[in-house]
Amino acid sequence: MRAACTSAGRAPDSVRLLAVSKTFPAEAVAAAHAAGQSAFGENYVQEGVAKAQALAHLPLEWHYIGPIQSNKTRPIAEHFAWVHGIERLKIAERLSDQRPAHLPDLQVCIQVNISGESSKSGLESAALLTLARAVAALPRLKLRGLMTIPQPAQGLDAQRAPFRELRLLLEQLNAQGLDCDTLSMGMSADMEAAILEGSTLVRIGTAIFGQRDKHQ
Ligand SMILES: *Cc1c(COP(=O)(O)O)cnc(C)c1O
Repeated sequence: MRAACTSAGRAPDSVRLLAVSKTFPAEAVAAAHAAGQSAFGENYVQEGVAKAQALAHLPLEWHYIGPIQSNKTRPIAEHFAWVHGIERLKIAERLSDQRPAHLPDLQVCIQVNISGESSKSGLESAALLTLARAVAALPRLKLRGLMTIPQPAQGLDAQRAPFRELRLLLEQLNAQGLDCDTLSMGMSADMEAAILEGSTLVRIGTAIFGQRDKHQ
């Protein structure tokens, strides 16, 4: 991350590391915490809640990065600090209703599926603006920015294209008066490209914890 920040001419502390611990046991999270890591990403609700409860004695910050079913919003609202994959207003409304009042606002990102063909993003960005305004207005949620998981691509230029699109979408939202500071983009295989395009949070699993079982 430091090397990528240097090539991008960015300050090394301008990108946060989210360690994606899905499928790895609580002991692996505790070991990463002992090495200085505090933010962890999970994308299965039950598994993430179980780890958060097992490690409640540590000052960890849990991010939910998986797909969100509407019948699973309550444990997400009660046990996570961040949610990266908001795609529908209905989900955001449920999280807002279910976020316990004694906890800080749930920090959320809207997930955008970047097609790769930037041509048709006019309509998409109009819909995104509408969704972003509605999410930003909900109590107990704080809209922080955008997240994407691009199709795997080979080569730096091909990897950079969707990340550039996401950055431009965030700039458009902020130009329309939203106040977003987070681009959640970049995984083990495309972290450098994401940092070159302005990522503020990379979600890294394999490069930290090793290969997962292939069916997961
Ligand atoms: C699993 C996962 C990651 C981490 O992927 P790696 O390739 O293992 O770094 C990042 N983001 C999301 C949404 C994931 O599901």
